[in-house]
Amino acid sequence: MIKFYFIRVFYKITSIAIFCLIAKISFSQNRPFAQSLIDTLSSKAFYGRGYVNNGDKKAAEFLAHQYSKIGLKSFKKTGFLYEFKFPVVVFDKKCKVKIDNHKLIAGKDFIVNPGCKSINKRLKLTQIKTLNDYPSKNRRALFYDTSFRQDKNHINQSNKYKLKITLQKKLTWSVAKGYDDVAGIEILNTSFPEKHKKIRVKIKSRIKQHSASNVIGYIEGHEVKDTFIAITAHYDHLGMMGNVIFPGANDNASGTSMMLDLAVYFAKNPPKYSIVFMAFAGEEAGLIGSKHYTDNPLEKLPLSKIKFLINLDLMGSGEKGMAVVNATIFPDYFNKIQSINKDKNYLSGFKVRGKAANSDHYWFTERGVKCFFFYLMGSYSHYHDINDTAENLKLGEYYDKSFLLIKDFILSI
Ligand SMILES: [Zn+2]
Repeated sequence: MIKFYFIRVFYKITSIAIFCLIAKISFSQNRPFAQSLIDTLSSKAFYGRGYVNNGDKKAAEFLAHQYSKIGLKSFKKTGFLYEFKFPVVVFDKKCKVKIDNHKLIAGKDFIVNPGCKSINKRLKLTQIKTLNDYPSKNRRALFYDTSFRQDKNHINQSNKYKLKITLQKKLTWSVAKGYDDVAGIEILNTSFPEKHKKIRVKIKSRIKQHSASNVIGYIEGHEVKDTFIAITAHYDHLGMMGNVIFPGANDNASGTSMMLDLAVYFAKNPPKYSIVFMAFAGEEAGLIGSKHYTDNPLEKLPLSKIKFLINLDLMGSGEKGMAVVNATIFPDYFNKIQSINKDKNYLSGFKVRGKAANSDHYWFTERGVKCFFFYLMGSYSHYHDINDTAENLKLGEYYDKSFLLIKDFILSI
């Protein structure tokens, strides 16, 4: 009898353990899956998911393929992509800068201003400290440090020079929809040679009417089908500056990957309300994809049917907690996520923020949709630069914890 009793207990414990293991593998977060998506999306094959070599288009197609693999439903017969157009400044060709005989390395030593016109010149360098320093002849390249840039009146004397150079502590690139008045570049402080007489600069840019797509799919709720919880993340990044790729692993391959991982979870665990997954394009060019959606919502997904929206951007760290944009606007929802976090002890804490136009949630907030924008905080410092790579961004325990926190929060809405 005793022997059999032990066998029964042993059998029970083993089967519970196996069940828990399977449940953990198939019914919860999947960090290796998210990491592999980050690795893929920030690889060279996607060209920084921007405006050179159809990088963002390739990423959109990859995401649509993931959506169908996961089993998301589409609002239309022809797939998950929703196209729109906008102008953008593109740098297709290699950007070259040389100071005297010293070649600067693109992306590492210098970046071009996102709205930089084409320029192919050799110019004398002049440092600007006061308004009196402006030269009378305009065949000059002016350089100044960031403390000087604070006075716009100085810089607006654009007819007096051909190129402006800002010396920076860190290079942070961006995207522009049109040209600046004067061609401009930024050079890293430590890369600017001590002796400097002349600069040779060759930059070719053009304004392109770019066509991009939002990628939208959903899981039907098992109780309330026509009311949606929206999970959003922008998948675009800065693309390329000539031959230099900005991979955008944290910004925002990380948020896109967590969104897909949540989609996998909810596909296996059908939620009460329908959940729509929206991967936006054109965020870095000025929140364009999300603006396009709020201006042209789908008939089957009007803004009034979105019960709550969660935007994920910069989800690769987390050791210093999570920022919640709109926390002060929707205190009831913020209390919910706070009490979940307290009960389960997921993250160290929250940064409580008000309204901010810093990611795709913004246009939804403006149109009266309840929403939060979550971003994780930590020591990861590569922002809008060439080092925001998959090699530098390895997901850890905070990925699991923030995934579980967000999943629990979604279930509490
Ligand atoms: Zn971003």
